[in-house]
Amino acid sequence: MKELTEEIKIGCHVSIAKSIDLAFDRAKKIGCSTFQVFTKNPRGWAFKEISKKEIEQFREKHLNYDISPVVAHISYLPNLASLNDEIYTKSMDSFLKEIERCTILNIPYFVIHSGSYKGGTYQEGFEKYVESIQKGIDFGERKVTILVENSAGGGKTLTGTFVNIQAILEEINDSRVKVCFDTCHAFAAGYDISNHSGVANFIDEIKATIGMESIAIVHANDSKTELGSYRDLHEHLGLGNIGETGFSNLINDSTLRKKPWILETPIDERRTDVDNINYLRSLINK
Ligand SMILES: [Zn+2]
Ligand SMILES: [Zn+2]
Repeated sequence: MKELTEEIKIGCHVSIAKSIDLAFDRAKKIGCSTFQVFTKNPRGWAFKEISKKEIEQFREKHLNYDISPVVAHISYLPNLASLNDEIYTKSMDSFLKEIERCTILNIPYFVIHSGSYKGGTYQEGFEKYVESIQKGIDFGERKVTILVENSAGGGKTLTGTFVNIQAILEEINDSRVKVCFDTCHAFAAGYDISNHSGVANFIDEIKATIGMESIAIVHANDSKTELGSYRDLHEHLGLGNIGETGFSNLINDSTLRKKPWILETPIDERRTDVDNINYLRSLINK
């Protein structure tokens, strides 16, 4: 049954430092069969130009390296549900520019984080968020699928529960919007995926809300914080509160194992990305 193991796409978030196409080389070097990038420096609003040469090399490597899908993640600052006009305008500007980069680079998936409806009601934030995503789909000429990521919950976040995410998908009702399931965020939001029955209940909840087919990719991160903490702190796989039993049950689920798994685990001396990828592979039932 070796083929099954190889079919599972596992990779991690890689740097675009120096030239965006180098992301492919970094992904290849650590044995990724899928990977994620930012399309710009994620920490500010500014965009550094991507040269024609970088774009060409990125596309060429996309064709020649056997690594797919490539996933992009939105930068940190945009809030697509912001009820503050100035922040909303900046957020939309950045969001659309990043989508444009995805189209230029032929990146099929773009992960966005939850919006926050700070200063307003859930309904107001919900409407802004839905409108933003619809604009994004059109702006990307329907070539880019926008992935709504579940959040760690609590506060004024829109996507802490899969019931709320389902409401968003239903309102947009477009095949160009799907979901990125982040394991750490789900655990922090109160979904106990650390044991066999917890994972079974979780899958039932997904089936009753967004449906398994709506999950386009998985963000595989363990959680440093407790169940229902509403705090988003990623940990190396198996070393946090989701633990080995949780990840083993998740990756061996007959549907989830068919999704691309992307790690966003910490960078420190305890484990490298290669260690985390190998660890996840070691949990796959052969
Ligand atoms: Zn994530
Ligand atoms: Zn996170």
